[in-house]
Amino acid sequence: MYTILDCYTDEPAGLGVPPYIGTYPRYIAGALKEKVNYITIDDLRTPHKPSLKTDITTYNKTNHNIQDIIKNTKELIVIAGIHTPGKYLSAVPGTLKEITELIKQFRCRKILTGPAGSIHGSRLEGGKLAEKVNLDIFDEIEENYLDTNNYSKIKDFAVKGAEIIKQHPSFPNTIAEIETARGCPRKKGCSFCTEPTKGLIKRDQKDIIKEIQALSKEGIKHFRLGKQSDFFAPTAKEIESLLKEISKLKPKTLHIDNINPASVTEEKTKIIVKYCTEGNVAAFGVESFDKDVIKANNLNSDPETTLKAIRILNKFGAEKGKNGMPKLLPGINILFGLKDESKQTHEANMHYLKKILEENLLIRRINIRQVVAYPNTPLYEQCKNKFIKKNKKYYWKWRNQIRQEIDLPMLKKLAPKDTILKDLITEIHDGNTTFCRQLGTYPLIVGIKERLELKKKIDVKITGHMLRSLIGGKI
Ligand code: SF4
Repeated sequence: MYTILDCYTDEPAGLGVPPYIGTYPRYIAGALKEKVNYITIDDLRTPHKPSLKTDITTYNKTNHNIQDIIKNTKELIVIAGIHTPGKYLSAVPGTLKEITELIKQFRCRKILTGPAGSIHGSRLEGGKLAEKVNLDIFDEIEENYLDTNNYSKIKDFAVKGAEIIKQHPSFPNTIAEIETARGCPRKKGCSFCTEPTKGLIKRDQKDIIKEIQALSKEGIKHFRLGKQSDFFAPTAKEIESLLKEISKLKPKTLHIDNINPASVTEEKTKIIVKYCTEGNVAAFGVESFDKDVIKANNLNSDPETTLKAIRILNKFGAEKGKNGMPKLLPGINILFGLKDESKQTHEANMHYLKKILEENLLIRRINIRQVVAYPNTPLYEQCKNKFIKKNKKYYWKWRNQIRQEIDLPMLKKLAPKDTILKDLITEIHDGNTTFCRQLGTYPLIVGIKERLELKKKIDVKITGHMLRSLIGGKI
């Protein structure tokens, strides 16, 4: 019996942390000749003592009898690896240290795959180096269990593997991460990024559509076309033909993720707004507005190009859709700890972020994280975490200034008091507050001051604002 153990993945292009299911477990399940069990790391963890706070380390359990699975598994395929550490509302990805401890109880062949099996390793917390753990417990470590990057082979695995979706803990409210391309179109990538080592290949649209059809048949209605480094890299015609076909399946959620600001055009933006669902966010890997840092790290966009792209997305995407959220907005990623970072870097970031606010432009969110210098990246070769160590003392202040002076006023513009947001899922409790959010890419988190039943769909009315989340009441 084969068992897939999902310890969750997060990469520059590709998310597999619940409520998302990544491509790895689905493709692998489709490649295996026998029926496969899908379990999560939450199934193996010991729950925390009961408290008023939801234990998110065991929130994503499957319905399997785990003791039976431990006894009967002949091959355990562990999927793990974090290359873009983040904070997750209702899940905690496994670290290699934790995983190696938890799988000792399996007496079978063990394989480590996914980003953690790559030359870059894995690290769950930003600002540190990749984990150094003895991995002798594994019989095989292989980034790519399928042993192929060839989409002509993957196309059948992707369709067949759709059947494991029903074992996912968030089902039917699972969001399937869909791959359209692999690697980065830029010849020389950004200093910190692990994508360029994957080479660049594009997936055939017919195969993408067949996979989405198979997932829809299994009951999945939420999709993010998030596994690619630049959704706008293809031509407008190509983007339109793909989205037009998918939209015929009437998904409840159809979102995208990464876009290179330099690829943004009015034509492509209009296509996304037309075919995707509202609440959509195009994440711009800005990383820094400081020209010295941009040059030293070979980043993909200069500040003026980014501003131009933000204006275009606002022009066509800022209008609100029926779930209460704007149709399409940009999101901005900022990275602390890049090469040549200085106090001037923060000043440049604040200058441009203020400019965005003053121009009355909307951005859905600013994602700030500390870089991890993964082995085999230019950042690792050139300076590892030298700039993190040098500037760490400023990070709280820098982050706080962005949260107070940019995020808060932005959130008030984006979802003013009395805004109605629809179809949020009640996800976790913290004391007497229930936190909920819509399904999709970077949804707003709303705190409601009562303990509501979890995993239910509700509508809310916004009553106030925190730095990065909203306060609301159930209606
Ligand atoms: S543009 Fe930069 S961050 Fe994006 S995938 Fe390419 S190398 Fe990575």
